[in-house]
Amino acid sequence: MFQKSILHLDLDAFFAAVEVRDNSALKGKPLIIGGKSGRGIVASCTYEARRFGIHPAMPMQMAVRLCPDVIVLRGDYDKYSRHSKVVTDMIQEKAPLFEKSNIDEFYLDLTGMDRHVGCWKWSQELRTNIMQETGLPISCGLSVNKTVSKIGTEESKPNGQQLIQAGKEKQFIAPLSTRKLPGVGVQTFRKLALMGVRKIKTLSEIPPQLLQREFGEKGKNLWQRANGVDHSVFICSAKAITSFKSLATFSLPISVSLALIIPSFNSFLAISNSLMTL
Ligand SMILES: [Mg+2]
Repeated sequence: MFQKSILHLDLDAFFAAVEVRDNSALKGKPLIIGGKSGRGIVASCTYEARRFGIHPAMPMQMAVRLCPDVIVLRGDYDKYSRHSKVVTDMIQEKAPLFEKSNIDEFYLDLTGMDRHVGCWKWSQELRTNIMQETGLPISCGLSVNKTVSKIGTEESKPNGQQLIQAGKEKQFIAPLSTRKLPGVGVQTFRKLALMGVRKIKTLSEIPPQLLQREFGEKGKNLWQRANGVDHSVFICSAKAITSFKSLATFSLPISVSLALIIPSFNSFLAISNSLMTL
């Protein structure tokens, strides 16, 4: 069967890591980047802060209650964008096809590369190069699809890497909480928990028709991904668009151009907006 090779890369605690790298006095300290006012949220936090139960998207007031000594910085979003671009440029230069899904997150399609150089070796080298060039920790996961690779990255954090061999997808994700499945937010997680479903393995064993009845179209997708199956495609990378544009006969639909820009820009804007409510 035709097998894909999908690499997921995600900078660890990105905004906080940039600040720690630029100021060694912050090293080893619980640190939050985010709005300081009552309505502010945690945009990013170090792993030292996470030990207190703090996590991104948590209301700042709650975070400070969990760790009164935590250092809070408003953050410099122009600086983070510049660092994100450095990583994007490195990936763009080396990867055949990639998608930037967030300011600190990328998917790379390395399918076919094994014929020339081992995908895993190539991925490890790219990760090392990014860390050397930027001085920032980044984690990665490699598997046959986006969902399993992203889970691989999350499970190897901080500062780790994980290869999930083809055929081992289901086995790898089965023991994990359904909360670890990309796309399962707080509401879906609660609803599944009420149904007695807490582990991905249990979710994978539910008849898909039942999930479809409970969650609509999303239910079928949930069941597939719980079984380690994900056929989702890539949003065109900048590189692909540039090469498409160079073909005079190919006119790029505007929706593709917007899809390229909007996912990362929107999430960045959402964070920036929340921080403006200082
Ligand atoms: Mg990240």
